[in-house]
Amino acid sequence: MLKNIDLAEMVPALLAWFDANARILPWRENSDPYRVWVSEIMLQQTRVETVKPYFDRFMRALPEVQSLAAAPLDQVLKLWEGLGYYSRARNLHRAAQVIVEQHGGVFPQTPEEIQALPGVGDYTAGAIGSICFGLKTPAVDGNVLRVMARLTGFTEPVQTQAAKKHFTCLLAEIYPENRADAVTQSLMELGAMVCVPNGAPRCGECPVRHLCEAYHIEKTTEIPVKLPKKPRRKEQKTVFLLYCRGKLALCRRAESGLLGGLWELPNTAEFLSPAQARDWLIVQGLRCISIKAGRTGKHIFTHIEWEMQSFVCECAEESSAFFWADEQDLQQNLTLPTAFQILLQ
Ligand code: SF4
Repeated sequence: MLKNIDLAEMVPALLAWFDANARILPWRENSDPYRVWVSEIMLQQTRVETVKPYFDRFMRALPEVQSLAAAPLDQVLKLWEGLGYYSRARNLHRAAQVIVEQHGGVFPQTPEEIQALPGVGDYTAGAIGSICFGLKTPAVDGNVLRVMARLTGFTEPVQTQAAKKHFTCLLAEIYPENRADAVTQSLMELGAMVCVPNGAPRCGECPVRHLCEAYHIEKTTEIPVKLPKKPRRKEQKTVFLLYCRGKLALCRRAESGLLGGLWELPNTAEFLSPAQARDWLIVQGLRCISIKAGRTGKHIFTHIEWEMQSFVCECAEESSAFFWADEQDLQQNLTLPTAFQILLQ
């Protein structure tokens, strides 16, 4: 395995490569912690190209932490619509309020204070600390774990807390006094552009190839070692598109759990036959003028897969059991997760 002294050698090579090759990204225009924070939260589980237009729109609508803190939650969720993992947006909103209320609107600068913000874990705190405040706080996510595992020839599974801690400690030792920001970003960039996942890395373009253990022992596709994936739980749903004079019935999901607190189309946690669907409508106090089978669809979350069938119903009158959204509500005000949007006609 690579020794720490060798690992320290990679820093100048990595920084020279980063200076020459860093992509121009909207959140790299400056090191304003608000912009870096929002981008890092958006980039969790989401590709750079997907995030770019969302980031620009978010910054135009809510350009500073004060505007995010003062915004209604529905506006924040609407700006997030389509990005998924909505708890990120809710935490972002809560954390902005904490920054305004407890830190006078000034982004906290110590690792402990940053990490105490809702939705900010080790990785995000490390990224903000190093990129914005020059702290020697590595940001170790899946990309960096992959790079470090290959560089050091690490043959244990990388998705464990022990592996994360191991590499965080190794990196903290080699962060230079200045340019902590560039070390963090160059590792992220190397993982995204050269030492890529899913298949062979582009070792021919790699600035630290001469130090890389996996490259020397020809195990770049076998490292990182991963734990076996748990199979996704499958759930069946019957979803109702209930229309009444052009309005669509929605309800709120429970505050906690999957898609917590978001709007949804009324649904049941099983497949219903047409006769059972009619019974369900009666129980909801709805009188239907027509009912027909609608679209089917599948939506995959990280650990769950929804298989959905739907019924489209024209209702004789609105029921107070639901919120009846008009076109403007759906377009401008309310957030309907993609899982349900795929069933809309
Ligand atoms: S040499 Fe290849 S495997 Fe090693 S760090 Fe570079 S890209 Fe990754």
